[in-house]
Amino acid sequence: MTHAEPRRSAQQSIMFESCIEDLHRLLPGRVSTAMAVRMHHGTDVSFHKPFPPDAVVFPHTTEEVAGVAALCAGYQVPMIPFGTGTSCEGHIAALQGGVCIDLSEMRGILRVSPEDLDVTVQAGVTRKQLNEHLRDTGLFFPIDPGADASLGGMASTRASGTNAVRYGTMRENVLGLTVVLADGRIIRTGGRARKSAAGYDLTRLFVGSEGTLGIITEVTLRLYGIPETVSAAVCPFPTLSGAVDTAIAVIQSQIPVARMELLDAVQMRATNLYSKLDHTEQPTLFFEFHGTEAGVAEQVGQVRAIAAEAGGTDFRWASKPEERSRLWQARHDAWWAALALRPGAKGWPTDVCVPISRLAECIEETSRDIADNRLIAPVLGHVGDGNFHLCFVLDPDDADEMRRVRGVNGRMISRAIAMGGTCTGEHGIGYGKIDELREEHGDAVQVMAAVKQALDPKGLMNPGKLFGPTS
Ligand SMILES: Cc1cc2nc3c(=O)[nH]c(=O)nc-3n(C[C@H](O)[C@H](O)[C@H](O)COP(=O)(O)OP(=O)(O)OC[C@H]3O[C@@H](n4cnc5c(N)ncnc54)[C@H](O)[C@@H]3O)c2cc1C
Repeated sequence: MTHAEPRRSAQQSIMFESCIEDLHRLLPGRVSTAMAVRMHHGTDVSFHKPFPPDAVVFPHTTEEVAGVAALCAGYQVPMIPFGTGTSCEGHIAALQGGVCIDLSEMRGILRVSPEDLDVTVQAGVTRKQLNEHLRDTGLFFPIDPGADASLGGMASTRASGTNAVRYGTMRENVLGLTVVLADGRIIRTGGRARKSAAGYDLTRLFVGSEGTLGIITEVTLRLYGIPETVSAAVCPFPTLSGAVDTAIAVIQSQIPVARMELLDAVQMRATNLYSKLDHTEQPTLFFEFHGTEAGVAEQVGQVRAIAAEAGGTDFRWASKPEERSRLWQARHDAWWAALALRPGAKGWPTDVCVPISRLAECIEETSRDIADNRLIAPVLGHVGDGNFHLCFVLDPDDADEMRRVRGVNGRMISRAIAMGGTCTGEHGIGYGKIDELREEHGDAVQVMAAVKQALDPKGLMNPGKLFGPTS
């Protein structure tokens, strides 16, 4: 895919070049201007157009990040923080060029406190790396967006995923942050106390800010005990409404399932083909139960009874760890499986989230719209949270198809917002959902922009995201 070059005055070009020369002096051997590296850092997993930064830097410490930010601020050069680049709405695209600050070499686990159930890590640590490190402590960090994303990136997108129905999202699990501001100042937000009434909650402000307010360099997180018993199952249903109604009834009965994921029939076909499985190709719920042996048995009995009423009687169990991993790997590979349905196509993963009582209606109307518009868009989702995804498998060069895709996506979002929901439960805004953020929040977006103006008056932090080209 081709990329767009930002337009610049001669004066601006000189400032960018001088900035990069100074960065070479600040981080010798850790600044890249190679086109392949720049393209990698400006391209996400979706169909969104890539925009490479002018340079990519690889700092190791908060102080080095502060040095980079101070230089960029001095030369008025944009900064785009980067974790692992798995975000979906063009978040990492360097729309105006600038310096990508890749945190992936900041992989230190700074402190683990088993007695307080918390940990502090550098922002480039990935969730799998953290759980590997924690294994012998009997603790784990549950938030799992599928991709092996960085914890700084997960905090910045307010990520969630399959376990959120039981353990919450990054919003509930980040206790504190170290952040480098746009001018190079270093601040600490929150702390290790489980509660605090001390001033504005800046931690919540930076969680979900998508790199538009500052660069997160350290994250303090809650941990949980590894459950005594873990059990997983899949159960197909004769109808989509049977599967969704089961999910709703499980939540309304307050059964503490750890994961409850819906895959529609199209996604099940894709998953069977891609992951070489032989599941029934019907709408299916994937479950995971955590607890004591007796607690898990009780949850399983309750869920079985609810599912049976909706025609879901054929539970397939995976109790050995390797069987469970295979099952969840197949679920996590759903995106790649969907893309494989149409070789050469691009993907657009989009998500909405609604109050659980409106979930069936929202999914069913959206599924009808997909069929009426003759699109390939498997439905899957973290239905326990009222959150579901479409993965449009599309040809971005086909104008008629793109018009139909945008129509279905727009109607799904308007439907979700009208139901009291949101235009994105977990993927975020990037530059792909700017209009939808306005549709959802109206004048409140101006308040968000005022916060941005206060913290980043020169508009250098990940410009063009959340608010559009002028930010
Ligand atoms: C197959 C697949 C499945 C996915 N499933 C889910 C899912 O179930 N749930 C979910 O929530 N997401 C999901 N995602 C999206 C993605 O994994 C998350 O958005 C993830 O949190 C991004 O983390 P990252 O490290 O890749 O961040 P990046 O993509 O590198 O960055 C994301 C944004 O955060 C900013 N950023 C990154 N690091 C920092 C930092 N240290 N400080 C400040 N800003 C920063 C960037 O500028 C950018 O705006 C999925 C993605 C894929 C490819």
